[in-house]
Amino acid sequence: FAEKIDENANQVIMKLMGLGVMAGLNDQIEFEQAELVALEFNKEIAKEVKLDEIEIQEKDLDFEDDEKDLQTRPPVVSVMGHVDHGKTSILDAIRDTQFASGEAGGITQHIGASTVKINDKEIVFLDTPGHEAFTQMRMRGAQSTDIAILVVAGDDGVMPQTIEAINHAKAAEIPIIVAINKMDKEESDPNRVKQELTEYGLVSEDWGGDTIMVEVSARTGDGIKDLLEMVLLVAEMRELKANPNRAAVGIIIEAQLDKARGSVATVLVQKGTLHDKDYVVTGSSSGRIRAMFNSKGEPISEAGPSMPAQILGLSDVAEAGDKIFAVEDEKTARAYADRAKEQKREERLIQKSNTNLEDMYEGI
Ligand code: GDP
Ligand code: MG
Repeated sequence: FAEKIDENANQVIMKLMGLGVMAGLNDQIEFEQAELVALEFNKEIAKEVKLDEIEIQEKDLDFEDDEKDLQTRPPVVSVMGHVDHGKTSILDAIRDTQFASGEAGGITQHIGASTVKINDKEIVFLDTPGHEAFTQMRMRGAQSTDIAILVVAGDDGVMPQTIEAINHAKAAEIPIIVAINKMDKEESDPNRVKQELTEYGLVSEDWGGDTIMVEVSARTGDGIKDLLEMVLLVAEMRELKANPNRAAVGIIIEAQLDKARGSVATVLVQKGTLHDKDYVVTGSSSGRIRAMFNSKGEPISEAGPSMPAQILGLSDVAEAGDKIFAVEDEKTARAYADRAKEQKREERLIQKSNTNLEDMYEGI
């Protein structure tokens, strides 16, 4: 032990005596005694753990909850649609309703998601995940969105990315609310939009269908509040629930390396509550949360179901679309991350050998 902490053995024996422990050079001492001695030398020690002895799998962390533990959670909404139809403008107009209604405003941090309060209920908006990111998340089986707002410009109608967005939402089996935007423009023709959308199975309620369509103008703000109320209505019908009282499970929606702050990631909590100082693991990256912020950039100490939080403290840059889990302690986090790293390495090797085989066959 003296060697391990790089101190003179006699000094260590003396300190032990000071603690009432009589020990010779080759005697064993308890970890707790060693810890106290180390402290005397102003050193910190930790138990050596064999990481591969820790059996921990995704199903242990992402387990199903009992029905009785579930509580209503806010809806998570994605705004989709063709380029220039007004996705960003609608998100801005939605945030403006907050400032107008006297909510503490300020500068919205870009963390990839934001929360809005309407009629005392919260809605979480994901900043349009580029369709690619969205597809990637889905490919990994991660479902981040509960409701899609499909923005269609009233003066332009259904366009290729409108159709793409419809297909994404259908594949993800999430309800679509159509926002017919740019209604302040004279050329806007909502009936034409509704007509075009029928070809894709979206029939407006006032035409006897079951798709909610709201006419809005991101520019003037007209209809934005109605749109938000419709989101709440659909959310209520879906009975979105999660158990807030368990170790958190979430999804990484954004991640980057920040020069000053290190690895930064935005997490959307899906189950449980994520706390500052929680040990977490995502993919092959692990760590302990060093600080947490909301979309206004304010420090927060916890984030419950559906809430986005920017976290600092991961060992590596996380990957968008990966799940993130809060775990009991550091060694569990590291064991899980190590295994994920190993798995990735194996997958790469298999891929490589497959490619080699393909090359071989091609040569035949
Ligand atoms: P995105 O590509 O879907 O995010 O579209 P943007 O929000 O960037 O909007 C594209 C253009 O349409 C911008 O020049 C906006 O100012 C304009 N725009 C967006 N919403 C409205 C609206 O309601 N009325 C009018 N007149 N212009 C709008
Ligand atoms: Mg945009």
